[in-house]
Amino acid sequence: LVRLENVEKHFGRHHALKSINLEIDRGEVIVVIGPSGSGKSTLCRTMNGLERIDGGTITIDGQPLPEEGRALARLRAEVGMVFQQFNLFPNKTVLENIIFAPRKVQRQSKTDAIEKARQLLARFGVADQQEKFPAQLSGGQQQRVAIARALIMEPKLMLFDEATSALDPEMVRGVLDIMQQLAAEGMTMVVVTHEMGFARASADRVVFMDQGQIVEIAAPNTFFDSPRSERANMFLRDIL
Ligand code: ATP
Ligand code: MG
Repeated sequence: LVRLENVEKHFGRHHALKSINLEIDRGEVIVVIGPSGSGKSTLCRTMNGLERIDGGTITIDGQPLPEEGRALARLRAEVGMVFQQFNLFPNKTVLENIIFAPRKVQRQSKTDAIEKARQLLARFGVADQQEKFPAQLSGGQQQRVAIARALIMEPKLMLFDEATSALDPEMVRGVLDIMQQLAAEGMTMVVVTHEMGFARASADRVVFMDQGQIVEIAAPNTFFDSPRSERANMFLRDIL
């Protein structure tokens, strides 16, 4: 579904992604881990065009990533992204947040969009929150809304960048459960997370990054039980 070939990204003199090669099959769940600053967020952001690459190629369904204009807007619909800080529109209600993109990008009718939004909100247990503004919701509720907002576009690929890192501990489980459900339903996902339990349970492959490079790609059990590289060994020693 997704193919990255020799992808390069620089921020000024900082080399944030160094010749990244990765193929993601349809339905695959990739968990990306690595130290702070290793390029995990940058990697995610390149896959939905939030960050332009300056070398190599990224294709989705065989199509190169568009760089601008309406094609880029459509790509953003096909590749949903959920961030650590939710990034909901603060001045729109929950319902307005969710129906904004389907109305604007996909020109869905208001009734259709509202109907789909209500189904998603009900599924995620936040149906009674639809008239509230984001600031009136808990972090866990906001993150469910953010996931619903991405899913209403029926994306081919979902990117989760530390989606549970900003949540109070008691909220984490509920959001991870939703992610686990999506994985089980066959959604193609790239998940940056520190939740090693989720990685073991749901990842098809773990990608370990360090200093802008992919150092290791392995099945979760292989990776956690016997990482090949010294860098992965050190990282796991530090976090586990
Ligand atoms: P963390 O675990 O802390 O979220 P990360 O692995 O997600 O880290 P990135 O956010 O991808 O790391 O950043 C990789 C490197 O690129 C870092 O050194 C960071 O400072 C740099 N970087 C990221 N975004 C920018 C930017 N917009 N401008 C300049 N440098 C940036
Ligand atoms: Mg990051």
